Amino acid sequence: MEHYNKVINILEIFRTNRSSKGLICAHCQSQQVIRYGTYNKKQRYKCKTCKKTSTDFTNSPLNMCHFPNKWPEFIKCTIKGLSLRESARVLKVSYITLFYWRHKLLIALKNIKNKEFIGLVEVADIFLSYSLKGQKGIDVRAPRKCGRKYKYLLGEKVCVLIATDQSRNITSRATLNLGFNKRCVYDAIGDLITEKNTLLFNQKPAYSSFCRDKKITFYNSSIEGCSINSGRSYLNNFLKWMLRFKGIASKYTNNYLSWYKFLNKISFNDTYIGIEKLIKIMSSEYITEINSSICKQRLETA
Ligand SMILES: [Zn+2]
Repeated sequence: MEHYNKVINILEIFRTNRSSKGLICAHCQSQQVIRYGTYNKKQRYKCKTCKKTSTDFTNSPLNMCHFPNKWPEFIKCTIKGLSLRESARVLKVSYITLFYWRHKLLIALKNIKNKEFIGLVEVADIFLSYSLKGQKGIDVRAPRKCGRKYKYLLGEKVCVLIATDQSRNITSRATLNLGFNKRCVYDAIGDLITEKNTLLFNQKPAYSSFCRDKKITFYNSSIEGCSINSGRSYLNNFLKWMLRFKGIASKYTNNYLSWYKFLNKISFNDTYIGIEKLIKIMSSEYITEINSSICKQRLETA
């Protein structure tokens, strides 16, 4: 464990990467930033635009973190697929702390912008049961008539929709629904598909309706006789991969979808190079989530 933490200086990676194009404010992205002394042995900056001060870890998963030097090893554990309890034993950090670290990391990955799709885009979807894992007070859950007060209606399921093109550009999104409808499609890919694309899907009228709205050419695989494989197999592999977590609370589905997409896209390993690569990517993203807001995450209803 000591090995990675000594070799990888996470603060240095953040500093180098975040200032590679000049100093930028972590709050408002202004370039009117000056060095402003030190804070906890870390360089402090002040923004002339929003007047706020920041360090290299501000608005990152490591913001206010007591053990930043344990992050390289934590990332190694995450890449290896260790459970939070196993990682907690290795790192000698509490399981609860690591729960928040994991979700901050996944939120940073979720923030990476999707690229525009090129040409033919295949879509596939799957429904999962709603899970309240980890939520307190489930036994006293109110009936449906009080649904608004609670986070979901009885019968609602988690719809996971994925879209992929031939260059393996992937987007995936989970929403909460009573049934599959056009809004699910809009919510997942509405901003990413244009008239230049052709959509390939299997049967569901919601897709054809979406395509007509947006004037997009489409192929319904059940009519055209062509098969759709990559989207479906991606979803099946995602479900297999998820088994290791022994069930997750549905409200975190989008975080795990981003993590899976990321692992698929970039071949990671738990070597020095793999860990450093992930830290660099993480340092480029600005997140504002803190521990309390992570627990309040919820799936949007489409
Ligand atoms: Zn600012």
